[in-house]
Amino acid sequence: MLELSTPVQYVKGVGPRIAEVLAGKGIRTVGDLVHYLPFRYEDRLNPRGIAELRPGEMASMVGEVRNSGLFRTRSMPIFQVTIGQGRAKLRCLWFNATYLQDKFKPGQLIALYGKVEQDQRSRELQIVQPQFEILGDAAAGNGAEKKQAESLEIGRIVPIYEATGKLTPRWFRRAIRTALENLTPDLPDPIPAMVRGHLGLVSPRTALWNVHWPEPGESLEDLQSWRTPAHIRMIFDELFFVELGLELKRRQQKAQTGIAFRLDDRVRATIKKILPFHPTAAQKRVLKEIAEDMQKPYPMRRLLQGDVGSGKTIVSFEAAIIAIENGYQVALMAPTEILAQQHYFSARRILENAGYRIVLLTGSLESERKREIRRHIAQGNAQLVIGTHALLEEKVEFANPGLVIVDEQHRFGVMQRLKLMKKSGDAEGKRTTVTTQAAEGESSSDKSGAGAEPDVLVMTATPIPRTLALTLYGDLDLSVLDELPPGRTPIVTKRVADDQSPKVWEFVRKQVAAGHQAYVVYPVIAENEESELKAAIKMYRELIGHVFAGLKVGLLHGRLDAELKDQVMRMFQRGELQILVATTVIEVGVDVPNATMMVIEHAERFGLAQLHQLRGRIGRGAAKSYCVLMTGGKVTEEAQRRLQAMVETNDGFKIAELDLELRGPGEFFGTRQAGLPSFQVANIIRDAQLLELARREAAAVLDGPNSEISSEEISRALVQMRSRWQHTYGLAEVG
Ligand code: ADP
Ligand code: MG
Repeated sequence: MLELSTPVQYVKGVGPRIAEVLAGKGIRTVGDLVHYLPFRYEDRLNPRGIAELRPGEMASMVGEVRNSGLFRTRSMPIFQVTIGQGRAKLRCLWFNATYLQDKFKPGQLIALYGKVEQDQRSRELQIVQPQFEILGDAAAGNGAEKKQAESLEIGRIVPIYEATGKLTPRWFRRAIRTALENLTPDLPDPIPAMVRGHLGLVSPRTALWNVHWPEPGESLEDLQSWRTPAHIRMIFDELFFVELGLELKRRQQKAQTGIAFRLDDRVRATIKKILPFHPTAAQKRVLKEIAEDMQKPYPMRRLLQGDVGSGKTIVSFEAAIIAIENGYQVALMAPTEILAQQHYFSARRILENAGYRIVLLTGSLESERKREIRRHIAQGNAQLVIGTHALLEEKVEFANPGLVIVDEQHRFGVMQRLKLMKKSGDAEGKRTTVTTQAAEGESSSDKSGAGAEPDVLVMTATPIPRTLALTLYGDLDLSVLDELPPGRTPIVTKRVADDQSPKVWEFVRKQVAAGHQAYVVYPVIAENEESELKAAIKMYRELIGHVFAGLKVGLLHGRLDAELKDQVMRMFQRGELQILVATTVIEVGVDVPNATMMVIEHAERFGLAQLHQLRGRIGRGAAKSYCVLMTGGKVTEEAQRRLQAMVETNDGFKIAELDLELRGPGEFFGTRQAGLPSFQVANIIRDAQLLELARREAAAVLDGPNSEISSEEISRALVQMRSRWQHTYGLAEVG
């Protein structure tokens, strides 16, 4: 008998050699093999009759080889096979397929799948490059084999697996079948009976069998869309344990000692005093959610999601005030120096009236200066510490950290985020003396028990559907800023080919003449950095020499040293530069409301999320803003869709959805950095509803009065999760 954990090489017909090939696909155990699901199914129970085929449809059929042969046309050899069903005939063509020459013999039974076309000249139906399987000789052949072929390959709905190397779909069919036949009959059911019962889940065994070998009469449509009871069961298993793990982690966090900040009238008054404008309803709501968390005696772990320009910064400053007024230090971390600088300046502008001591710590500071700032932080003198990932450096220790804010979190890896949380945690644990600052704080004295975890607020402009956010950041509570500050006019976005550039530059000059500012953005993507950077610099020279002659134009790119970057950015902010020619260093966070125009050159090379982020730099004030997407060279079909989406909508959610669709979840989140679990069968986009269900069930199970799930089951689940999430979320710390 095979167990799910048995190495795959012990399945009959596999062996060590093939096991190695399978390992390349991530298939190491019997369990992995039976979780290798068909990517589609063919209905060979009711195969299509050739006579009823229509041009344009995808069809699967079974027929007999009548004849085959190679034709040489002027451009290439074409291999042709004629398939028959009684008197009906169908032609199949493969281009450049000399390798097929000896494959087919008259009388063979073959299964075909492909798109039906009508030949333009003869008007006859044909299939070009169909997928095919030779099912055996219709006439002769070894009896036993023929029988098996008949039972597994025809007269039923047949699973089609992705081939790998020499291992054909047919090979997988047999190997998986054999594995299932020899699989131990007592498969444990990891899902608690309560959940199983009220969701009506089929047993693991039934699920495994039916997902590979559907019962006759199963709906082909449900099969193709992974919605049969068997599919649902398998998907649910995976999602349930991930959600269970996240839910446990949340609960564990809530069980930790945090800081119960006090929010009294004095703190409220301070917040009110510093606000430069009326907050939007969304900002009020979100601040309330944050403030409520902060008052609780366990650590806050909250994700603030809001489209570009929705006003996250001020909300985070408000949270900072609560912490500082309670006598704690606040760390605000930004992904780029430019953004950290900018936060530093706005913090000084807005918060220094309240008399707070604010410091900036970035990687490019001189080491002497860094040391000094670190000392300030360690002594508790600095109340608000703004920085880049330099804050993650080992040597930065906070005397009295109360709140950690991570801006544009999607730009940091999850690991970095965790490291930062940890760092503040460690520093907290190591703290031996309560600083003067904390002692002075009227309300902090008895709440800062040693080992209290600081609160964490992470902010992101990547709008992702709520259920996805809950999976990706399931250990975080979620707040959404779904409203833009008043008085914004939607950005007008246009797409033009770069031979229209004279007109575009003319328009830029007009905007500038009207007192506004403009960005001109060039793609500099790491892999082609050198040459692209040269191109950008060259264009900059051309622009200042010709079309923008006489205007004040600055250049900003990643290779400039920090001081120069800072200087250029500040000049642009103060309006001393009218036009900023830049690479994507300005992509995140930069806030210059007077800039109303953005020209993006080679827009076809940018990703959708990136375009949206870039465009988010304009449309920040009351004046109408314009974004011009210039394209040069070939624009792929996918790029077309990206550009079209940008022209059609300003809505970050819509854009994110399309982006997700175009790139798939792995790419979209950047699996490596975002810590997206790699599921074997689940797909968080397709299965969003099941995900939500799994989340509710996981919470219900843990809430149950006499929680039915035993600690053994939980630890087993966690082991399972741990192995799947190994490199990712730090979830391994759970349990
Ligand atoms: P993001 O969410 O992209 O970080 P910011 O915090 O940079 O957005 O805010 C975008 C702009 O909107 C800034 O210029 C900010 O001062 C302004 N802003 C934020 N909240 C309001 C508000 N309630 N009323 C008017 N302007 C606001
Ligand atoms: Mg921001």
